[in-house]
Amino acid sequence: MKPAPFAYHRPATLEEAFELLERYGSDARILAGGQSLVPALNLRLATPAALIDINRLPGLDRIHLASDGLVMGALARQHAVEHSPLVAQHAPLIAHAMPHIGHLAIRTRGTVGGSLALADPAAELPACAVALGATLRAARRAGVREIPAARFFRGIYTTALEPGEILTEVVVPAIQPGWRSAFDELARRHGDYALVGLAAHCRVSNGAVAEARLVLTGVGLTPVRAARAEAALAGRRPEAGVLAEAARAFDTDLDPPSDVHASAALRRHLARVLLGRVLTRLLGSPLTSSPLPTGES
Ligand SMILES: Cc1cc2nc3c(=O)[nH]c(=O)nc-3n(C[C@H](O)[C@H](O)[C@H](O)COP(=O)(O)OP(=O)(O)OC[C@H]3O[C@@H](n4cnc5c(N)ncnc54)[C@H](O)[C@@H]3O)c2cc1C
Repeated sequence: MKPAPFAYHRPATLEEAFELLERYGSDARILAGGQSLVPALNLRLATPAALIDINRLPGLDRIHLASDGLVMGALARQHAVEHSPLVAQHAPLIAHAMPHIGHLAIRTRGTVGGSLALADPAAELPACAVALGATLRAARRAGVREIPAARFFRGIYTTALEPGEILTEVVVPAIQPGWRSAFDELARRHGDYALVGLAAHCRVSNGAVAEARLVLTGVGLTPVRAARAEAALAGRRPEAGVLAEAARAFDTDLDPPSDVHASAALRRHLARVLLGRVLTRLLGSPLTSSPLPTGES
C-alpha cells in the first residue's frame, strides 16, 4: 500500500512547528518515529494533508535529571531510554518495561512522545507514566501546559492534547527510598503488543507492601489503575489470603474487552498471573501461594 499524497514539512524550531500546526489545523499530523503513523498512512487509515516532521527540533531528545524529577524529551528514542543509566537509576519501572516494546528496530526509531501521544491502551509507557505519577508537558505558541499522566489518557488513541499542541517532555518523579518497581506482560509472541501488562510501583517495608500502585495495559480503553487491588495489598504481608483478595479485586477494577486476541475472562486470568509474578519480583522471594482465587481458571 502507498499513502495518499501529503505535504511534508520539517520545521527547525518549535515556533515553525506551531505555525504549521496553525496553518493546517486538523489536516496535519506530527511525525516523530513514524513507527505507528507510517503504517497508518500506508494503510490509508490516516490521510492527512500534511506531515510535520519534528525530528529536527533541537533538544527534544534529552534525558536528564532536574529538581522535579527525571525528564525525558518527547524525541528520546525508546532504545535510548531502555539503555539510559539515569532511567535505570531514577525510574527503574520504565527501564524494566522498555524491552517489551515491539522489536529493537521499532524501539530504535520509536519515541517517548510518540508512544504517549498515540495512547494505545496496550502500550507499556503510558501505564508506567500513570503508575509513576508522571507529568506530561504540552507546548503551544501560548506557552507550556502540564498534564498529569492520570488525566492525559482519555480513551483509545485519545489524549488530553489540544489542537496546536506538541508533547515536548515527560517528567517522572525520581524513585524514593523503599519503593520498588516491576513490569511484566503476556503476549502471544515476543514483540507483539501484550494481551495484558502490569506496571507495579510499590513501597515495600519489612516484607510487606506498604503502598501499591498497580496499572494494567490491555484491559480497557486507557491504562487502568487497579485501585481496589492496591487497597487490598496496602499495609499487609502478601500471604495467601491477601493475594487472593487482591486478585479477586481485579474483577471489580478491570473491565477487559473480548476481541479476536483474547476473551475478557482470559485477560482477567492473565492479570492475576501477572500480579503473582510482579509481587514475587518486588518482594524478592517466591510467594507463599499463587494469587489465583481457588476455583477460577
Ligand atoms: C510491529 C510493531 C510492534 C509494536 N509493538 C509495540 C509494543 O509492544 N508496545 C508499544 O508501546 N508500542 C509498540 N509499537 C509502536 C511503537 O512503540 C511506536 O514507536 C509508538 O507507538 C509511536 O511512536 P513513534 O515515535 O513511532 O510515533 P509516530 O508513529 O511518529 O506517531 C504516533 C502518533 O503520535 C503523534 N505524535 C508523535 N509525537 C508527538 C508529539 N511529540 N506531540 C504530539 N503528537 C505526537 C503522531 O502525530 C501520531 O498520531 C509497535 C509498532 C510496530 C510497527
